[in-house]
Amino acid sequence: MSIKLYNVKNRTKEAFKPIDERNVRMYVCGPTVYDRAHIGNARPVVVFDILYRLLRHTYGINSVSYARNFTDVDDKINIKAISTGKSIREITNETINWYIEDMTALGALEPDYAPRATEYISEMIEMSSELIKKGHAYVAEGHVLFDVSSYEAYGELSGRSIDDMIAGARVEVAPYKRNPMDFVLWKPSNNDQPGWESPWGFGRPGWHIECSAMARALFGEKFDIHGGGLDLQFPHHENEIAQSCACCGQDSFANVWLHNEMLQVEGKKMSKSLGNFFSVKELLDKGFSGEVVRFVYLSTHYSKPMDWTVKKAEEAELTLRKWRKLTNGVQVTKHISKGVIDALNDDLNTSKALTVLHGLAKSGNIEELKSSAQILGLLSDQMGAWVKENTFDLSKLEEIILASRDKAMKTKEFTELDNLKNLFISAGLDVQMSKDGIKLIKGPKFNSSLLEDFL
Ligand code: AMP
Ligand code: ZN
Repeated sequence: MSIKLYNVKNRTKEAFKPIDERNVRMYVCGPTVYDRAHIGNARPVVVFDILYRLLRHTYGINSVSYARNFTDVDDKINIKAISTGKSIREITNETINWYIEDMTALGALEPDYAPRATEYISEMIEMSSELIKKGHAYVAEGHVLFDVSSYEAYGELSGRSIDDMIAGARVEVAPYKRNPMDFVLWKPSNNDQPGWESPWGFGRPGWHIECSAMARALFGEKFDIHGGGLDLQFPHHENEIAQSCACCGQDSFANVWLHNEMLQVEGKKMSKSLGNFFSVKELLDKGFSGEVVRFVYLSTHYSKPMDWTVKKAEEAELTLRKWRKLTNGVQVTKHISKGVIDALNDDLNTSKALTVLHGLAKSGNIEELKSSAQILGLLSDQMGAWVKENTFDLSKLEEIILASRDKAMKTKEFTELDNLKNLFISAGLDVQMSKDGIKLIKGPKFNSSLLEDFL
């Protein structure tokens, strides 16, 4: 059976046929880098990581290219720079490093390409110029605007009429626009804003042109899959299609479009005012391991809204603990259960794949369980440290530091005790001393590797 995917463009689940089986190309819209990724941002990362792994399994590791961009020019970044006093570059570099760190903790493979928008400004200027030449864009007051009326298929992806679009989106009305739906390809910058020289003066690109220009630079005018969260379907993806197809031909750009549904928390939309808005990092720091978070994400099909709940995380932790115990020391082979592959081939049915793994655990098929879990990014050696950290017994360390304190009290020589205490703190332990004894408590950064000498 081949891979079947629900292609939003055709509104059907269809057999996936790559343009070139030796060069399968997937582009996913990445984050705007001004702050830590929240747990909603991580959903497309996990979803498209599964698709990436499945494509690599099907066509071979060297036959698949995955690109996910970083939007490192955006007004939200400028605002953050002003409010923190940091430079734009400092903020974007720091946020990109956090992002890679947090997504790696969730077991996501790094894409083959992680282009930054600011490295492709000349390609964006080039594409905007081509669109002007072809009569699809116009210049007005230092802006370049895409003329939506010049592109007949506008709205097809999201299935909206122009009237719906105007009503449903926060369309920016501006005197220089011929039509309120026209969107910006280029806009002027003042001296305090990031900008580049262009045929239309000093300025910066609009958001949508970024993905069209980068996808073309990396993958050419036509490629296989384009993905992102459902919130991007309109206007972002609609605008990407309009720009790319108006520039390069109606048959160009991505063949298959996929959107993940949104994530909410304990049944409610995430929002700062409800206090249920948190970053991936905060979740990890609370003690949920990356593997547990990943398991929870995989338990809901990507096309359904997903609810993050602590209860689900607790259940996932129990399951993973059980599976890890069962498969401890078992060798991973290349064999992956047909049931797991069939489930993933069926439009990435990850919850079904987990059910198949449950069955393998139940029937004691532990080699197949461990090997098959790998394609979901679970039960790997890299992801397993949390089990070890959670079961690490601190009582022996408490005895050692208590003995050291007794000795120090007698000799009035405290260096050894201080050194020990500092070592424990650097291993992420909270050292609580009282006259009754010493208690060690694991903090979120607990790392047992520094304590191995004591075991
Ligand atoms: P942004 O940085 O806002 O452009 O978002 C980066 C990615 O996260 C995009 O693919 C969004 O569609 C996705 N995303 C944002 N919020 C959520 C959410 N609550 N649930 C699922 N995906 C989301
Ligand atoms: Zn995009």
